[in-house]
Amino acid sequence: MSEKNKFETNAIRTQVARSQHSEHSAPVYLTSSFVFDDAEDMRASFAEEKEKNIYSRFTNPNTSEFVEKICQMEGAEDGYAFATGMAAIFGTFAALLDSGDHILSARAVFGSTHTLFTKYFPKWNIHTTYFDVTDLDRFEALITPNTKMIYAESPTNPGLQVSDLERIGALAKKHNLILVIDNCFATPYLQKPVAFGADLVIHSATKLIDGQGRVLGGVTVGRADLIREIYLFARNTGPSMSPFNAWTLSKSLETLAVRVDRHCDNAEQVVDFLVTHPAVEEVRYPFHPSHPQYALAKKQMKRGGNIVAFQVKGGLEGGKQFIDAVQLCSRSSNLGDTRTIVTQPALSTHSKLSAEDRLAVEITDGLIRISVGLEHTDDIINDLKQALDSLL
Ligand SMILES: *Cc1c(COP(=O)(O)O)cnc(C)c1O
Repeated sequence: MSEKNKFETNAIRTQVARSQHSEHSAPVYLTSSFVFDDAEDMRASFAEEKEKNIYSRFTNPNTSEFVEKICQMEGAEDGYAFATGMAAIFGTFAALLDSGDHILSARAVFGSTHTLFTKYFPKWNIHTTYFDVTDLDRFEALITPNTKMIYAESPTNPGLQVSDLERIGALAKKHNLILVIDNCFATPYLQKPVAFGADLVIHSATKLIDGQGRVLGGVTVGRADLIREIYLFARNTGPSMSPFNAWTLSKSLETLAVRVDRHCDNAEQVVDFLVTHPAVEEVRYPFHPSHPQYALAKKQMKRGGNIVAFQVKGGLEGGKQFIDAVQLCSRSSNLGDTRTIVTQPALSTHSKLSAEDRLAVEITDGLIRISVGLEHTDDIINDLKQALDSLL
């Protein structure tokens, strides 16, 4: 699809070549393998002298369409689609790191990513040091001769801290480190880490990219030489995305811009309501002037996203009472769905961290995370209001 077209147009018009049936919308290619015309075609395909699908663990028309769209959106050279976000994260690390390598990671990362760093990677002699995204002055002192990769999310889950991508990008370049950004919370519509120096960008497509709570998926895009290594690792180890999920997610991308804009509209209204409620002690949203990194968020993001975190009165018990009182909003640990979701991270997604580790990433006991959905804001706010009123 032509470079001259804009984000929304590419998201809709990028499509696998039509078949002999001239279908308007791309079909699902549920096929495990593809056939060769003759022996020469077989040889040339395996020798990678031509771009041809061989086997759906390697490539498939639906996954290729999905990956091409994400590459266009992120301004990336190439990519590979995985079965889940965690498969993308694990596959990316496993393909690029060797025994003895060192990772510098932002402290606040997704729970399972943290588990990879603390439980699994040490088995292969890969060690991780955490840095604080709000204190980058101390970052360079943490680099060792074995440091190979920098890893960060922005905004973080669920504390909504914002990492200075341009500054981290410059540090990565200066020290010749591979910068990997998990861009799941922002989506490529709101933030493009490649423009700030990221070598690779990872998404859990399960979240806003699907946006409707239906399928799991993950994707890594970025520098072609690194993606080549990731592709070879994945093609031999088998964490690939299913064609059906790729088809679903590629359709989802057609509406990403309109959905995310409406998610942001709704989140802004929820924030405006929460800051006025007497049972709420603190509200965190990257595009609210009270956010400590408001200026930075405005610089690197188009809008503030759909995740809002807030602190209720009464700590852990106050939070539980709020969670029990919601009627419309879903109690779920997922996010980025059309349905508004409330979670108390201290009880759920971050319960395995010690209270001290939680506080280091600004997760207090009474912190509530809302993934603001696409229901009418009157209904979302009425539900939050009746649940918060019950705390007074
Ligand atoms: C959900 C999530 C993941 C993991 O994705 P799955 O698709 O659930 O495997 C990774 N990073 C972030 C920031 C997430 O929110």
